[in-house]
Amino acid sequence: MSSRRFDVIVVGGGPAGVAAAKASAKTGAKTLLLERNPAIMAVKPCGQAVSAHTFETAGVKPTSSMILNRVSARVYAPNGRSVKIPETGYLINKTLLLQEIAAQAAEYGAEIHVNEPFISFARRGDILIVKTPKAEYECSALIGADGYNSRVARTLGVNERSEPIPTLQYLMAGSRLESIDEIRIYVGNEIAPRGYAWLFPFSDRIAEIGLGVRGAPLKPYMDRVLRMLKSELGSAQVIDNRGAPVPVGGVISKYIFDHVILIGDAAGMVIPMTGGGIHSSIAAGIAAGEVVGEASQEGEASEKRLRSFDEKYRPWLERIRRSLRVLRVIEGLSDEDLNELAEILDDEDIVDLANGLNVGRVARKLLSHPRLAVKLARQLLSI
Ligand SMILES: Cc1cc2nc3c(=O)[nH]c(=O)nc-3n(C[C@H](O)[C@H](O)[C@H](O)COP(=O)(O)OP(=O)(O)OC[C@H]3O[C@@H](n4cnc5c(N)ncnc54)[C@H](O)[C@@H]3O)c2cc1C
Repeated sequence: MSSRRFDVIVVGGGPAGVAAAKASAKTGAKTLLLERNPAIMAVKPCGQAVSAHTFETAGVKPTSSMILNRVSARVYAPNGRSVKIPETGYLINKTLLLQEIAAQAAEYGAEIHVNEPFISFARRGDILIVKTPKAEYECSALIGADGYNSRVARTLGVNERSEPIPTLQYLMAGSRLESIDEIRIYVGNEIAPRGYAWLFPFSDRIAEIGLGVRGAPLKPYMDRVLRMLKSELGSAQVIDNRGAPVPVGGVISKYIFDHVILIGDAAGMVIPMTGGGIHSSIAAGIAAGEVVGEASQEGEASEKRLRSFDEKYRPWLERIRRSLRVLRVIEGLSDEDLNELAEILDDEDIVDLANGLNVGRVARKLLSHPRLAVKLARQLLSI
């Protein structure tokens, strides 16, 4: 077995990992990215919906092939009333985004090994010995960006996991959607208890139907969603049927250690209300890559030094924390409450609540509605 020396090893070539490899290599750190799959590509199921800001954070100029559809959004209350969110986002080809960030990482000098899973690491003084089936590597610091079932976390002895929401996603070919300009989000206890269902129009013929629920089996609810959309789905066929957990329970309590940091899904860095984790993971990757890249070259990658990640990532940590608190308040609401909310809230309120932003402003708006003031507004005001 060969034994080569790197400053930084990044495990996982998802959004967090490719961004971390790029940022680390950009600091001048000798960086290795390990991906267990044979390609840098979006193998794990994902809705692939992102905001325009995601590209800015990633430092990527979106190409027409990267963008499948430019969309606004519409949120449906249980009674069918809907609120349009005009803010434009994108349904993307996530593989192309990951590959573009990986290309930038390579241009900054990162080495990328696909088909090479991380197995374990051991400490030898200030050096980490990282094992894969192909080699043993030495490095000063390790970034665990290997997703929800992170092996880096397990090797560290981290048992805490962010609370997952199980999801199921069908790609439907041959659909005949009434409109392909909007993604649709359906909330309510009949549709998706403690979660939501979504319809993402990838094209006029391909629609993605997804569902996340907690405390209930997915399949019967998916069948119900398909029945609800029957007229638009027609004889469309399922050409992709997969699911995966999304960590919506917020960031785990400890994700920084001497010489090691966990980021992205591995640390629960997802916006809890939306389940969106592409942007927050890319931002985490960039912050971690910069901090770890610099620290490893200074020869000081202690936990204390790596804590400067928290400073760089602070706005996201705050956003995730507040969004989680909103989720905890909203998840207890009845369908009647959700219907009433849809009458009162406008698009800006909904976007703010989902992202844990300006929660006080939205709460004050609800204070004048007697039932929701007691159930909701007072709790939101304490966030
Ligand atoms: C059904 C579903 C729909 C979603 N929809 C959206 C959406 O529309 N918008 C959005 O923003 N977010 C969405 N998300 C969330 C988003 O997919 C994740 O939050 C995001 O991909 C997390 O990025 P990550 O890099 O942390 O982890 P991952 O994307 O999970 O990447 C981890 C990488 O590590 C690799 N890996 C794992 N173990 C090893 C190992 N031992 N050695 C080497 N490599 C390893 C994996 O192969 C993978 O490439 C969705 C998630 C699901 C499940």
